[in-house]
Amino acid sequence: MLRLSHLFVRTLRDDPSDAEVPSHRLLVRAGYIRRAAPGGYTWLPLGWRVLRKVENIVREEMDAIGAQEVHFPALLPRDVYEATGRWTEYGDNLFRLVDRKGADYLLGPTHEEMFTLLVKDLYSSYKDLPVSLYQIQTKYRDEARPRAGLLRGREFLMKDSYSFDIDDAGLAKSYTDHRDAYERIFTRLGLPYVIVKAMSGAMGGSMSEEFLAPIEVGEDTFVRCTSCDYAANTEAVATGALAPDTSEHPATSTLSTPNCPTIASLVEYLNTNAPRSDRTWNASDTLKNVVLTLRNPDGTTSALVVGVPGDREVDIKRIEAQVSPAEVEPMDDATFAKNPGLVRGYIGPQVLGADSATGIRYMLDPSVVPGSAWVTGANQKDTHVLYLVNGRDFTADGTIEAVEVAAGDPCPNCGKALEIARGIEIGHVFQLGRKYADKLGLSVLDQNGKQVVVTMGSYGVGVSRAVASIAEAFHDDIGLKWPRAISPVDVHIVVTGKNGDDITVAGEQLAKHLEAQGLDVILDDRNGVSPGVKFKDAELMGIPTIVVVGKSLADGNVEVRDRHAGTNEAIPVASAVQHVVSLVRS
Ligand code: ATP
Ligand code: MG
Repeated sequence: MLRLSHLFVRTLRDDPSDAEVPSHRLLVRAGYIRRAAPGGYTWLPLGWRVLRKVENIVREEMDAIGAQEVHFPALLPRDVYEATGRWTEYGDNLFRLVDRKGADYLLGPTHEEMFTLLVKDLYSSYKDLPVSLYQIQTKYRDEARPRAGLLRGREFLMKDSYSFDIDDAGLAKSYTDHRDAYERIFTRLGLPYVIVKAMSGAMGGSMSEEFLAPIEVGEDTFVRCTSCDYAANTEAVATGALAPDTSEHPATSTLSTPNCPTIASLVEYLNTNAPRSDRTWNASDTLKNVVLTLRNPDGTTSALVVGVPGDREVDIKRIEAQVSPAEVEPMDDATFAKNPGLVRGYIGPQVLGADSATGIRYMLDPSVVPGSAWVTGANQKDTHVLYLVNGRDFTADGTIEAVEVAAGDPCPNCGKALEIARGIEIGHVFQLGRKYADKLGLSVLDQNGKQVVVTMGSYGVGVSRAVASIAEAFHDDIGLKWPRAISPVDVHIVVTGKNGDDITVAGEQLAKHLEAQGLDVILDDRNGVSPGVKFKDAELMGIPTIVVVGKSLADGNVEVRDRHAGTNEAIPVASAVQHVVSLVRS
């Protein structure tokens, strides 16, 4: 029994000043976590119970698909990550250390290398496969923007598993097993989720999906088709090749365009000074060339210009997902200064491309289809060109999915409208293929005595992030509202009497009887704390069932409050235990 007179907890009336999102605010205020370092949190007794419950549900479902639990150190040697290139690729996101002998170490951000080597160490035959291994472990990432409490920590708890198969069919099965297990996990946690296509990223691999909790404060944006079952992280939306424009376009002409600093002012100028006979000019007739800097993990940089229709925004995250592990930044003044061929505000593709005057790489969004004509910069101040045709008057080095996906855009699968929403990434399933096994030399002998490279999958659940996501999904203005499966206890009993009076004795008895039935109980037995404060604390802590033993005891009743339904029922003391037990078990 957790007695609030002794429990190591302090609730706060006020929001912590650094808390940006409800889960962070409420978990701190209700006494579940305390900030210990930037992006690092201490779990207090109530929080620790929730975390362990989440962890156990994850563990049970991993065990149920036959995955076996192991545990690696978090402190790992450099050479292993050097072998796969990730010592460099991880860039600033890796926590690096040096030991007393001067040897380099890192704190594991994820463990593909270690698992691959462990299997290589112990297994050598097809008869040993398939095998899936997992751990539930603290991970370290020096995130650029640790934020929102547990949602993006620099030290956080992850379940990561890895599957090892002899062939593609085996990998497909291991992947499906994990995906199904994740559905069961999030269903048991009570956490709403959407499965979306994800980017495979730099590590290659063929198939990757994310589990997103559709919650507004999430950092991921995803699309769902309003007609078919297509769903994807916007990073992974692939428009693909669109039909070319086969119409005849006039020859290119140059136009002096003074005082047109924006696309809107340019369009207005065109309609006044160079009107079209067939229709008016629109922003979508202009080609916007956005100059970016790619920063490679080794610190080197290169320029990239991306061409998109003038009525669309560029989505840096989407571009970044395609050029990973490089990071993408808007180009700074210094780089502009080094490239005098780039006339800010009037950049056109005539001087762009690997084979061009500037030698700057130039990529087009697929919506700039071959054969299409554009109004764009003339690479000269206050001057634009009209009817510059893709393929006729300029060429790019390739295409890159670059525009910000918007609600109403056509679904890549069926063409109907997409809708857009935000979510928190709570899980990720990923067919790695043979990339790690190749690099680290993990192969086994097959039936014919031939060495074959093992194919792998990797699968992650953000365990600590799941706690915060559940808090995001289940709370109101006054506090948390835990789903039963992960609530720190089953029942919160508020006793409004004083030490030794009938009310307190009845509360103590009820708590004992509920415990005898196998329920976990918080008993608010604090003496000298007002009923009002006790109610507020109970609501803040968010145990789904609150039982108040107070004044109505005189009529032989206790009050049973349900945090989710918002109901408040008078129940005879005599049947209280049975009533509460059936509520909790229902
Ligand atoms: P994100 O895109 O949010 O940075 P990720 O794709 O880098 O996450 P993975 O490498 O796929 O993360 O890790 C597996 C899971 O670990 C994620 O699905 C997420 O739930 C969790 N996770 C990742 N980074 C963090 C973090 N900084 N804090 C808490 N949980 C995290
Ligand atoms: Mg991920």
